[in-house]
Amino acid sequence: MSLFFLFYDILLTGGDRMKIYNTLSRQVEEFTPIEEGKVKFYTCGPTVYHYAHIGNIRNYIGHDILDKTLRYLGYEVTRCMNITDVGHLTSDSDSGEDKMSIASKRENKTAMEIAKFYTDAFFEDFEKVNCKKPEIISPATSNIDMYIKMIEKLLDEEYAYVSGGNVYFDISKLNDYYVLTNHQEDQMVVGVREGVEEDSNKRNQADFALWFTTSKFENHELLWDSPWGMGYPGWHIECSGISIKYLGEHLDIHGGGVDNIFPHHTNEIAQSEAYLGHKWCNYWFHNEHLLDESGKMSKSKGGILTVSVLEEKGYDPIAFRFMCLGSHYRKQLVFSYDALEQAQKTLTKLRNRVNNVVEEGELDSNKFDEYNNKFKKELENDLNTANALSVLYEVLKDNELNGKTKLELVNSFDKVFALELIKKEDVVDSDLEEYINKKIEERKEAKANKDYSLADSIRDELASKGIKLVDTKNGTTYELM
Ligand SMILES: [Zn+2]
Repeated sequence: MSLFFLFYDILLTGGDRMKIYNTLSRQVEEFTPIEEGKVKFYTCGPTVYHYAHIGNIRNYIGHDILDKTLRYLGYEVTRCMNITDVGHLTSDSDSGEDKMSIASKRENKTAMEIAKFYTDAFFEDFEKVNCKKPEIISPATSNIDMYIKMIEKLLDEEYAYVSGGNVYFDISKLNDYYVLTNHQEDQMVVGVREGVEEDSNKRNQADFALWFTTSKFENHELLWDSPWGMGYPGWHIECSGISIKYLGEHLDIHGGGVDNIFPHHTNEIAQSEAYLGHKWCNYWFHNEHLLDESGKMSKSKGGILTVSVLEEKGYDPIAFRFMCLGSHYRKQLVFSYDALEQAQKTLTKLRNRVNNVVEEGELDSNKFDEYNNKFKKELENDLNTANALSVLYEVLKDNELNGKTKLELVNSFDKVFALELIKKEDVVDSDLEEYINKKIEERKEAKANKDYSLADSIRDELASKGIKLVDTKNGTTYELM
């Protein structure tokens, strides 16, 4: 390491490196990005055939915490996420029906209408729990050329074959297909797995479809021309294609839920590395499931429990985020309304405590650094959010610490927690409101004096500051634009 990078390293992380569990090595590892100070991060996105349940959202909260932590530690993060709007069958392998086709029939809409509706619904819930949108979001249907280019090369190099009209990846061409699962799955006979039927077109049972040409489903709505005839891509090739297209040939972190490890991520590694001819992604990040009291949450068990449903029942979506932060992302978490109720009460108390802190004194930068380093250490330790929350409580309890320093720390920590701990209205907006009301009065007076140009200039002045006046029968109000 050059002297420059050594200093840079100390500056960036306070001397310690972030440590994170890597599914690939099955241990907590020091995180070293490919390019110093920068992180390329890919997250598997939703299949937009239905609402995302709160178990799906827990997974995205885990990814959001990693994203925000990396930024907090000073990394420049570029994150990419796909939207699966074609090719994901009801099994994660190649059997069953395309989930988008099922939704089209269910709701009597086109696949694209379904995709649009559920993509919007997904991001609405995603943002309600303060998840930050990735820089790059790309629907699977927008990258067909990329999958065709990859599949052509895989066929040329004999990693893939055409059989029964479809194109399959031949897993026997790799030395280590089961690298991500530590060979736990290599005994698995696909034919006997629950709900998975054997495909006689395959040379090996674990081979997977890259491109479906002779679809067994009649009238599949989304079809593209390809060198192998009209068809559509398999689910796994989407993420490899989108990731390589937007983030390049070397990836720092790829994440998903634990249920993605096999077969989805296993297949992504197989096809990406066969295509590229070198190692692709260094760290694999997986979130554990959220369970309901009867077991794993799923969309097929009757009603879908979404963030919006929780909100309709009167819960603050951020209380759900808070509940998730109280547990480690690699541990299963059991959801119950009692637990959510408890989380909401605790969060309200916490916010009240923060908002009762009087902002007095000068910032004590030594104390600030001391607590901030403690906070960072907990997150650097494989995202120990529960312990990071304990540091927040320590700050609030510290009687030696002045109000100014406390609030600066809370504000800083909340860049990662995103729990809206400081009420913006109370802290910032009272001055603003006073200013706007004064201007509204001045304008009213100008109008009464028939000085319409002054009235208009007041309106324009406010508009230039992002404040829109709204005249109603009962007087003038405003909206922040
Ligand atoms: Zn994926």
